[in-house]
Amino acid sequence: MRAFNFSAGPAMLPEAVMRKAQAEFLNWNNTGMSVMEMSHRSKEFMEVAHHMEATLREIMGIPSNYKVLFVHGGASLQFAGVPMNLTEADDVVDYVNTGVWSQKAIKEASRYVNVNEVAKAENSIPAPETWRLSPEAKYLHICQNETITGVEYQSAPISDKPIISDFSSTVLSRPINVSDYGVIYAGAQKNIGPAGLAIVVVREDLIGQARSDTPNLMNWQTYNDNESMFNTPATFSWYLAGLVFDWIKEQGGVDAIGEVNQRKSKKLYDLIDASDFFYNEVDPSVRSWMNVTFKLKNADLDAAFLEESKAAGLLSLKGHKAYGGMRASIYNAMPEEGVDALVQFMKTLKRNTPDNSRP
Ligand SMILES: *Cc1c(COP(=O)(O)O)cnc(C)c1O
Repeated sequence: MRAFNFSAGPAMLPEAVMRKAQAEFLNWNNTGMSVMEMSHRSKEFMEVAHHMEATLREIMGIPSNYKVLFVHGGASLQFAGVPMNLTEADDVVDYVNTGVWSQKAIKEASRYVNVNEVAKAENSIPAPETWRLSPEAKYLHICQNETITGVEYQSAPISDKPIISDFSSTVLSRPINVSDYGVIYAGAQKNIGPAGLAIVVVREDLIGQARSDTPNLMNWQTYNDNESMFNTPATFSWYLAGLVFDWIKEQGGVDAIGEVNQRKSKKLYDLIDASDFFYNEVDPSVRSWMNVTFKLKNADLDAAFLEESKAAGLLSLKGHKAYGGMRASIYNAMPEEGVDALVQFMKTLKRNTPDNSRP
């Protein structure tokens, strides 16, 4: 039996997708071979690739003046890729620091360009009026959803500069307006599919400005000119991502999925807020729909909580070591029943502990 796996990433994939992949694992589409055994340049695989991009464009509502690139190196390579593609070494760029992933992006970008940190917070997003923006900045970088604390922008900030956003842990989780952004990038292993690829959705005028010493495989132009096949892509990850995009469409797209995601997260936040045993530290106006963090008021009971939740089939609830406590990552593929089971588990623990000595 499959458990409810609250891992932050790699994370649960939709069961229907896994079953389909399993059924056609050895013999894809009557070709006599697995999709991972065929040439990436074959007609068959090119159809997989084109279908994947078309479906992503449709479910994400990507306008025609945006290019979709399927890239190597995860989201982390784009921490360097963004400045290399958009700046020269003496340029200035603005970054909002809302947590660990913002900080990693800042640290890497600082090796290539002058980074101005416009604001900093851990459990909230500082009010945009307070951001110390630099007039000459080439772009404004944000992390749309801080996976470790569970802090998420509920809409795009307003800026006259291109907004570059790390969407790794919230891509395709709710409707967004792609044209609010210059570049959206995301690693696959949270909401897209298995690890091994990342997507870059980039407004076409932002392609073609890379530094001359940018490695080919970091240059967005290379991907754009070669249908993301300058070299061999992670074909099996592409194929599975395509199945996940089909699945999202079947669910009614990001509008329908967004409603479910909001409801799933609210069930947990409502329980946590009403509880004497658990608390959440994030400003309620920017709480993540994807990563719900909570801490036990008595942290001595963390180990017992993890042991008992695991025994109940609720896996990977341990929070990131940089933040502590617990984290329920409830990406698109986490069924609502999984959240209901966690809520029930947390309530039962409460009922069994009249003396407050346990969670
Ligand atoms: C997981 C994550 C990353 C790192 O992704 P990789 O694909 O492993 O490089 C970057 N940013 C955010 C917000 C993440 O959640």
